[in-house]
Amino acid sequence: MSKPILGIIGGGQLGSMLAIAANKLEIKTIVFCDDVDAPAQNFSNEFIYGQYNDQAKINEFVNKVDIVTYEFENIPYETLDKINKIKPVLPKPSVNRIIQHRLAEKDFINKLNIRTTRYAYIEKKSELESLKDFLPGLLKTVTLGYDGKGQYPIKNLEDLDSLNIDYSNRYILEKLVNLKKEISIIITRFNDKKYEIYEPIENVHEDQILKHSKIPAEIDNKILEQSKLWATYIAEELKYVGTLCVEFFIDKNDNLYVNEIAPRVHNSGHLTINAYNVSQFENHVRAVCQLEQISLKKISDAKMVNIIGDQITIYRNKKLKDNEFFFDYLKKEIKSKRKMGHLTTLTS
Ligand code: AMP
Repeated sequence: MSKPILGIIGGGQLGSMLAIAANKLEIKTIVFCDDVDAPAQNFSNEFIYGQYNDQAKINEFVNKVDIVTYEFENIPYETLDKINKIKPVLPKPSVNRIIQHRLAEKDFINKLNIRTTRYAYIEKKSELESLKDFLPGLLKTVTLGYDGKGQYPIKNLEDLDSLNIDYSNRYILEKLVNLKKEISIIITRFNDKKYEIYEPIENVHEDQILKHSKIPAEIDNKILEQSKLWATYIAEELKYVGTLCVEFFIDKNDNLYVNEIAPRVHNSGHLTINAYNVSQFENHVRAVCQLEQISLKKISDAKMVNIIGDQITIYRNKKLKDNEFFFDYLKKEIKSKRKMGHLTTLTS
């Protein structure tokens, strides 16, 4: 059987690493992105620049590919659904519709009897005033927020006047968890009850942006097992195909909560490129293109640091040790808070 051509919507670092993994499997990739400078064009076989609602560009993209996947969850559902009527989109668009909306996502998780943070849906300012119980909390837009964007910390009701909150948006108010640790589980689901699951990854955020990840996570066995089980339930319930990440909070009393689900490969899983026989990216390509499932084997313990903003210039000139692996995302413009690259170090 000839290999399919894989279409990837989104052209950032995740799209780049998917294209690199596909290339290793001799699968051609075409990236479709609304950023003319998208770094993934450096790694894909072809690049189509266009807005995600530009029908002519969507048609051009769809005609050239056999299977479509995506590197970020904020692509309009309508676009994915339209494409799916012509070429299979994996993970399927209905997954995206749930996960790109924080309220739908949290309701979905709770229905599975999996714990999330406490939350309330906010449509207008007056509703906030009756929710003292949820303070201190974080007000988060229900759509389009990531890396702390669209989030307002609220300690008490007086804060509401000084914060410039745009009440034309919808929000959820989330009670702050007294955090001990954050972990993530990356799982690739191939088919009914067929998975490859990586061990929990321990994550440290700075300014709500992921900074450090490492394996093994320093957590007890009960949390290790529970996080893996919950990620498996979520992937199975979604009938998911591809790589999925579940982000968790652990509080000071060792309670585990799901923070959010990313229906895609994830930044915390970059270390799987060097620490496992098959990376999260390769597993995603294998699952969506229906290639062979290979049992995961860990090669080494590892840690990863995200290189943010102008720190990249230091790393570009750094002499690397044998156990260090530097990835430069080749982004044209250096911006503060922008993820520019990462360094993985194998530690065992
Ligand atoms: P999010 O975009 O919702 O994943 O939030 C980004 C980061 O902000 C998380 O990884 C946490 O470090 C922090 N954060 C978000 N929500 C909460 C919460 N309810 N309690 C404590 N920390 C949070």
